[in-house]
Amino acid sequence: MANFCDGRETILGYDDQRNFPAVVGTSFLSAAFKFGVLGIRDVWQRTMEAYGKSNADEARRGVIVWQQELAWREFYQHAMYFFPDLAQGPYRELWHKFPWENNEGLFQAWCEGRTGYPIVDAAMRQLNATGWMHNRCRMIVASFLTKDLIIDWRWGEQYFMQKLVDGDLSANNGGWQWSASSGMDPKPLRIFNPYTQAQKFDREAKYIRRWVPELKLADTGSILSGELGALERGDYPGVIVVHAERQRQFKALYAQVKAASAS
Ligand SMILES: Cc1cc2nc3c(=O)[nH]c(=O)nc-3n(C[C@H](O)[C@H](O)[C@H](O)COP(=O)(O)OP(=O)(O)OC[C@H]3O[C@@H](n4cnc5c(N)ncnc54)[C@H](O)[C@@H]3O)c2cc1C
Repeated sequence: MANFCDGRETILGYDDQRNFPAVVGTSFLSAAFKFGVLGIRDVWQRTMEAYGKSNADEARRGVIVWQQELAWREFYQHAMYFFPDLAQGPYRELWHKFPWENNEGLFQAWCEGRTGYPIVDAAMRQLNATGWMHNRCRMIVASFLTKDLIIDWRWGEQYFMQKLVDGDLSANNGGWQWSASSGMDPKPLRIFNPYTQAQKFDREAKYIRRWVPELKLADTGSILSGELGALERGDYPGVIVVHAERQRQFKALYAQVKAASAS
């Protein structure tokens, strides 16, 4: 906490750095929060001191954005306290009837980081190897499981709880319901394109290369676009589903369920 809250490269640069999984741009304090090693009031006090000491707008913005992340944690804890049914299933009624495909083989490929989508596979392999995953990547893999593989978010929620060192019922459930669009967030459908996400947040494919060594020598453009030549691909698997097709399928299913629930 001291390192993070006192440093220019850390809390003060948080707004600029927090979305890039290849850099150390977040606090890595989630497990300490989860197990009560750090108390939220102490940490909040440190953020106020960091705010007071900073004299650039950008640095102050870093502190505020980090405080907002702490607020997400509080929000999901309150949501779980007041709506304990969240632990069992979707907050929104419509999602109780969603016809998830729940294909076991696709789920296994996702768990093992063998989907053929480099950013998804890098993230799942980071989780399996270390017990932690960058927040941007948690959102990417959760969107992929629910919207591309059309698998019930509760399967992913459970897998995360088995693997994460910071696994926490309310934050994890909140993150999964946000990604599945079944939670309290009013935006109806949020579908991440795994290629666009990698192009924006892992521009040099450094994170991908770290966790997917098969692609170490592949061209950055090929990795980010998914257009890998046979030599570049080597042993790396082909895609298990086609994003554009699955996006169409998912939207059609959603439209059906929505229409049925309105009639
Ligand atoms: C699908 C999914 C599952 C998640 N599961 C968990 C989980 O089991 N446990 C967990 O602590 N976080 C979870 N998160 C939230 C977030 O990814 C992690 O808190 C964050 O990546 C931890 O790294 P950090 O400590 O470096 O975070 P920082 O970016 O430094 O954030 C500081 C602290 O704020 C809190 N925080 C940040 N973002 C969120 C968020 N979106 N929701 C709730 N709290 C947040 C955490 O306590 C975190 O330590 C999940 C997010 C998603 C999308």
